[in-house]
Amino acid sequence: MPRLIDTHAHLDAPEYKGEKFEEVILAAKNAGVEKIISVGCDEETSLRNVELSSIYKDFIYATYGFHPHNAESFDFVRHTAQIKERVKSNSIVAIGEIGLDYYRDLSPRGVQKEVFLKQLAVAREADFPVIIHIRDAFEDFKKFTDGIDFKGVIHCYSGDAEFAKWAVDRGFYISFTASITYPLKAVYKMAGKTSRSVYEVIRNYEGFDSPVPASMLDLFSCVPLERIMIETDCPYLSPQNLRGRLNEPANVSAAAEVIAAIKKTGYEEFCDIAFANAKRFFSI
Ligand SMILES: [Zn+2]
Ligand SMILES: [Zn+2]
Repeated sequence: MPRLIDTHAHLDAPEYKGEKFEEVILAAKNAGVEKIISVGCDEETSLRNVELSSIYKDFIYATYGFHPHNAESFDFVRHTAQIKERVKSNSIVAIGEIGLDYYRDLSPRGVQKEVFLKQLAVAREADFPVIIHIRDAFEDFKKFTDGIDFKGVIHCYSGDAEFAKWAVDRGFYISFTASITYPLKAVYKMAGKTSRSVYEVIRNYEGFDSPVPASMLDLFSCVPLERIMIETDCPYLSPQNLRGRLNEPANVSAAAEVIAAIKKTGYEEFCDIAFANAKRFFSI
């Protein structure tokens, strides 16, 4: 069975409370998921993930960070100190998720910027990796981080090929969720009819036009294998064939299947590379 890491889950989510939690952990293990990075979005969720990581040692790893949606609740003194303390005690593996979200604009953009840059400064000072959330804010992200050197992964990638190329040149990793399965409705339909896997349908497709959109092929041609990570961002973003159901780390293979087929590598080979990338990035 291929080795999988879900590099971005929210195991603190209320959807996993109670008995459900152990079910989700067991399903992940049965699916070959060996490690899960459980990502914080504010004080409460970050501290919950730190707690989970101390219970599920070497299986769940925590991060601490304020999501742009929660930027207004960031206390520059109290929360900066908390992040520094977690970095120092090695109880987290990254700072995040932090960034800019102009799609939902749940915090004023000026506040998002200040809170993002403050957390980024803490990460740089400690030479610590950062999980970045960017939605509809790619130009400002480029502008605000111009000349700032840091170790980052752009999670749940939603940008185009051009930005991906820029990010790779800057040394960033790029992480993909099952949102990359959404433009592939036709592929999933074909797979369902023939009982072949999505991976096989993409790999062995012989029609004139590929069922994979050209923009996706362009995007993946700009991202080398050694910079790719995979994630679920669960409980959100279930894969195409499970839409409407609760997402969980066991489903991280959906993104892997699609990327492996587009990059024309073996499925297991791709999972091994993505596993090694995540281990290297998070030093786990
Ligand atoms: Zn995010
Ligand atoms: Zn997230």
